[in-house]
Amino acid sequence: MLDLNASVLLIYTGGTIGMMEDEETGALKSFNFNYLRAHVPELVRLKFHVDSAQFKQPIDSSDMEPRKWAELVRIIEINYDRYDGFVILHGTDTMAYSAAALSFMLENLNKPVIFTGSQLPIGKIRTDGKENLITALEIAVDKNSFGQVFVPEVCIFFQNLLMRGNRTTKINAANFKAFNSFNFPVLAEAGTYIRYRHDLIHRPPEGAKPKFYYLLDPNVTIIKLFPGISEEILKAIINIPNLKGVVLETYGAGNAPCMCWFLSLLEEGVKKGIVMVNVTQCASGSVEMNRYLAGKSLKDIGVLSGYDMTTEAAVAKLMFLFGQRLTPQEVKRQMTVSIAGEMNTES
Ligand code: ASP
Repeated sequence: MLDLNASVLLIYTGGTIGMMEDEETGALKSFNFNYLRAHVPELVRLKFHVDSAQFKQPIDSSDMEPRKWAELVRIIEINYDRYDGFVILHGTDTMAYSAAALSFMLENLNKPVIFTGSQLPIGKIRTDGKENLITALEIAVDKNSFGQVFVPEVCIFFQNLLMRGNRTTKINAANFKAFNSFNFPVLAEAGTYIRYRHDLIHRPPEGAKPKFYYLLDPNVTIIKLFPGISEEILKAIINIPNLKGVVLETYGAGNAPCMCWFLSLLEEGVKKGIVMVNVTQCASGSVEMNRYLAGKSLKDIGVLSGYDMTTEAAVAKLMFLFGQRLTPQEVKRQMTVSIAGEMNTES
C-alpha cells in the first residue's frame, strides 16, 4: 500500500547510474545529482515525497571505503526520524560490500535501506537505471494496512529482484541482471506487482531502538586459495603487523591443502590471535568442514566455518566486529552466529 504522506531520502554516492562520458576520453565519470534528476522526470510524478542528499564528491564505487560507509550511516542517522525509508544510489562494483557493511552498522533497523544502481548511465536511452530507481523508491515506502513497512532491512534491488544486502554478490559486468543471492531466496520480485516474501524478511525485536555504528577496523584480508599458492607469500601475509582477520576462500565445501607448511602457517596465525574464517570460492553452497579431511584439518587448527556467507559479508563482518574493539575471542564467538541474517549455520 502506498502512503501518500510518505517520504524517502535518496542518497547519491556515485556509480554508473549518474555518470556521463568525458568529452575528451569517452570514459565514464561521476556527475552530480542534478544531472541525474534531470534525466528522471518521473521522480516528480511519484505519489510520495523524495528528498535527496549526496556525497560531496560522487565516486566510482571502486573508491568506496569504510570511512564512506560511516558517512552513509551518518546521513541515515541524522535523517532517520524524518523519512519512511532510504534509497542509496551506488556503483555496482562494490555495492555488495557496502550493503553487507551497512547491514551490520545499522542494528534494529525498522525502515528500509535499499541500494540500487545501474549498468548503463541514466542519460542513455536504454538505461536500466530508471526502473531500478523507481521501483527501489516504491519499495522504500511500501507498507501494510497497519502502516508497517514491508522491508526493514538493508537490501539491494536490481533488475527485478530485491535481495538481502549481506547475501548478495555481483555476478555480471555487463548484463542487467548484475546481482544474485545464491544462498538465500529473494525478498521480493517486481513484476506487474511487487510480491514480497514476508516470511523471510527480518524484523527487529519488538520495541528495540535502532543503533548506528561508525567504527570499522580495516586490518583484515582475503586469501583466495589456488593450486600452487606459495609458502613465502602465505608467510608474508600471516606476518603482516596488526593483521586481525583473514577470510580464507577455500575450495568446494571448505577444503584446503593438507601440506604441513600450509597448515602450520595458518596455525601460527590462529595462535597469534588472527581470526580466520573459511568461506567457499563456489558461488553457492556452504562450508562443511567435517566432510573431507582437507576441511577437517583447517577446523582442527582453529579456522572457523563461515558456513554459506559471501566473501563480501565475511570481510565486512570482521571489520565491523573488530571495529567494536572486541577481543579475538569475542569476535570468534560472533563469527559463528548470524547477527544480521548473513548466514545459515544449520546445514
Ligand atoms: N565502476 C562503476 C562503479 O561501481 C560501475 C557501476 O556503477 O556499475 O561505480
